[in-house]
Amino acid sequence: MPIMTNSLGLHFVALISILSAATVKGAEYDYYKYHPMEEIRNWMAQMVMDYPDVVTILDYGQTYEKRTISLLKIGLESEKRKKAIWMDCGIHAREWIAPAFCQYFVKQILQSYKTDTKIDTMMRNMDFYVTPVLNIDGYMYSWKDNTTRLWRKNRSPGPSGDCYGTDLNRNFDANWGTIGISFNCSSDIYCGSQPVSEPEAQAVTYFVGSRKDDILCFLTIHSYGQLLLVPYGHPNFTAPNYNELVNTAMHHCGHFL
Ligand SMILES: [Zn+2]
Repeated sequence: MPIMTNSLGLHFVALISILSAATVKGAEYDYYKYHPMEEIRNWMAQMVMDYPDVVTILDYGQTYEKRTISLLKIGLESEKRKKAIWMDCGIHAREWIAPAFCQYFVKQILQSYKTDTKIDTMMRNMDFYVTPVLNIDGYMYSWKDNTTRLWRKNRSPGPSGDCYGTDLNRNFDANWGTIGISFNCSSDIYCGSQPVSEPEAQAVTYFVGSRKDDILCFLTIHSYGQLLLVPYGHPNFTAPNYNELVNTAMHHCGHFL
């Protein structure tokens, strides 16, 4: 395995290693190319048919353009109340490798839980909530043509109606509107008219908020930067378990060295 080194060398190595560990099984669905939304929806339904004991689809919201937002709930039935891990992909429309990663992740855990005791234990004790594409309107728009390929935001109109899209990643009610944002609707980092103004952000906030005692981990997958970012994206506020988060991140990057 080639080891590329630069200031972010750990992350480069991690990515290459995941790819080289891939198998060619599941040939009917190509996990090495990007898929339009309709194919991803069909793939979700296929996962439920192929693994009915562990996979269900939960619809938990609607996009601005009234498309249903769905996730795959993955886990073995249990008498006890289970903890959960949240993972969303495709909050930024143009970052196509994020939805591709979510699909690949789902395939890997479903193919291996019967033979891998570690994953079997996780599936018994926890559920995974995986949203392959959160920003569906934006994702579909980024597939439209070459002029829309780099669309990032959702598709709701701005206050004056002459610009479109809120950066959903900057719309949550966490230090909203304070840093790394724009109040100009034409900007790629427009944070919306108020916290959680967007239906996609509302869906996540409600789903996660109503289960917050059970959710152990919240992962949101992006591309471009080979970076692991920890909460809260603000210089003055860090998570109470900041050290644990950084240590965990370093530990997992270290696995691939
Ligand atoms: Zn992003």
